[in-house]
Amino acid sequence: MNFDPAKALQNYLVFGEYGGVNPSITDSSTYTFLDPRVMEKVFEGEIEGCFLYSRHWNPINKELSGALARMEDTEAAMVVASGMAAISGTILQLCQSGDEIISSHTIYGGTYALFKNYLPRLGITVRFVDTRNPREIEDAVTENTKAIYCESISNPLLEIADIPAMSRISKKHGIKLIVDNTFSPMILTPAHLGADIVIHSLTKFINGTSDCVAGCICGTKAFIGSLMDVSTGTTMLLGPVLDSFRAASILKNIHSLHIRMKQHSHNAQYLATHLEALGIRVYYPGLESHTQHDLLIKLKNHGFGFGGMMIMDLETLDNAQKLMIAMQEKKVGYMAVSLGYFKTLFSSPGHSTSSEIPEEEQRKIGISDGLVRMSIGLDNDIEDTFQTIKSCLKEIGYLKGGD
Ligand code: PLP
Repeated sequence: MNFDPAKALQNYLVFGEYGGVNPSITDSSTYTFLDPRVMEKVFEGEIEGCFLYSRHWNPINKELSGALARMEDTEAAMVVASGMAAISGTILQLCQSGDEIISSHTIYGGTYALFKNYLPRLGITVRFVDTRNPREIEDAVTENTKAIYCESISNPLLEIADIPAMSRISKKHGIKLIVDNTFSPMILTPAHLGADIVIHSLTKFINGTSDCVAGCICGTKAFIGSLMDVSTGTTMLLGPVLDSFRAASILKNIHSLHIRMKQHSHNAQYLATHLEALGIRVYYPGLESHTQHDLLIKLKNHGFGFGGMMIMDLETLDNAQKLMIAMQEKKVGYMAVSLGYFKTLFSSPGHSTSSEIPEEEQRKIGISDGLVRMSIGLDNDIEDTFQTIKSCLKEIGYLKGGD
């Protein structure tokens, strides 16, 4: 792929109300009209470009949405209050009682819980499959299927979605392909690979400063328009509005995303390569040992690497916990969930972000107790970080011997 999302963002110039290089922050929940007939037409969706009420649209959220649409190369986008709001809003817009979704079985624990426990309460059934096997997806399609759902690089197992293969199935059956691209902004452009709807938790890499929760939905103008229809739109009616001060700060951060993604990827590649050479079991899509390394090479944009997420398998929960304590003490980073922060974050997925997935299912899909999921930070001296992690591995007795 040779799309350059960084260039697309660079070409997105927004002028503030008074010519400011940053657009003004919208500090209003409601907007004035000079003519009641115009107000009515805006309500009916006949006039665009006017603002009505901030749950519907507000100027700064529109600017951030515009930037995200540029980055994902979709016709339109909409920001919402969290990644989960983006996921639930999308599904509820597409599905009603009696409908079905096919989902990859390796997805973020919160999404899994929404699909497994919550959607059935609304009469929506989710069939979990191993999306690496197209046959399984094809076999799960019924006349009620409305969408296929996956993560481009999955949380936590870092499986790569074969988006073109899934898209062929979704197109054949006239259903939507929804891709959560939270782990790989810039690296993958799912809309170019056949995704109909692209979702992000902006909380992660895109914002990059772990100071807020936000999400977005990118898709066609018609789909985004349907989400905020005043009579039937899910985001309009359920109301997960992103605060405009947060939208303003995310919009500033997104313009350094390309540099950050390169550095996250560079550092993760370095650590993964050197830890693997020590004999540690490492999952990282930039390693040749990753079973879908070649697939990601085929799908990814040029120049942003293989991402900032890496997993070490230390075989037991005790080892994993000891390592995390040692790494936090030695200031490798924080023992914390989430990802995409400028410092390294680490957690034990089976006991945190994937704990919503029942133990038996965790084992089946490969989430074992010894996993340490790491979101690699922007460290300037990654060789030094590697040496510190190595000393931690020795301190806990996992790595033996001298240098
Ligand atoms: N999608 C993925 C892949 C995630 O990892 C997460 C959260 O960790 C979410 C969605 C949910 O995002 P948020 O926490 O912003 O609601």
